[in-house]
Amino acid sequence: MKPGIRDMEKVIRLLEKAHGVEPWNWHTRQNAFQVLIGTVLSQRTKDANTDKAARALFSRYPTPERLSRASVEDIEPLIRPSNYYRTKARKVREIARIVSEEHMGKTPDSMEELVKLPGVGRKTASCTLLYGHGIGRIPVDVHVQVISQRLGWTKEKDPDRIQEDLEAKLPRKEWCRINELLVKHGQAVCLTRHPRCHICPVERFCSYPGKMLERGK
Ligand code: SF4
Repeated sequence: MKPGIRDMEKVIRLLEKAHGVEPWNWHTRQNAFQVLIGTVLSQRTKDANTDKAARALFSRYPTPERLSRASVEDIEPLIRPSNYYRTKARKVREIARIVSEEHMGKTPDSMEELVKLPGVGRKTASCTLLYGHGIGRIPVDVHVQVISQRLGWTKEKDPDRIQEDLEAKLPRKEWCRINELLVKHGQAVCLTRHPRCHICPVERFCSYPGKMLERGK
């Protein structure tokens, strides 16, 4: 049976109760430009390493103007904790140049403009809109993808389609919490490989076929 909106909202309330509303990382709690750059650094990288790289980078180059004037050789060692740091060093400097020169130092606040930047796809753009500009979106990372499928919230497989599906189903007032809650749930309980269904606070709302097996562990 497909979950209705009331059940989806009950799940959100239970996850808020279980995981709290405290921020779980540093790089998404900064200004819009730093959220944008931090999210590029976070691609294929653990949050703790992303935060290390972002802190080091912004301590030297906190604004688009300053980062655009840095050399790639200066940026690389600062962001080394982030995976693919060499490629990312070129990308973040180019993003800084475009924001600085073409947007007068202001980070774009539309999906259309953000996805034109190098290394910025819909997920990074959605994170920038949500955490940098306070514009409600549902960025779909691996946790949002896996958990929304397990809960039966979506049957889509492609992250962009999942985002469209979730945004169509959930009222706007809920959008801003979904990414954060599902990331926390995915890190603590609904692990990608072996979900800990035996301690899951939303187990009764979940349609994941393997949950009985996982519950017995
Ligand atoms: S019951 Fe299991 S699969 Fe379903 S949300 Fe909870 S941990 Fe994830």
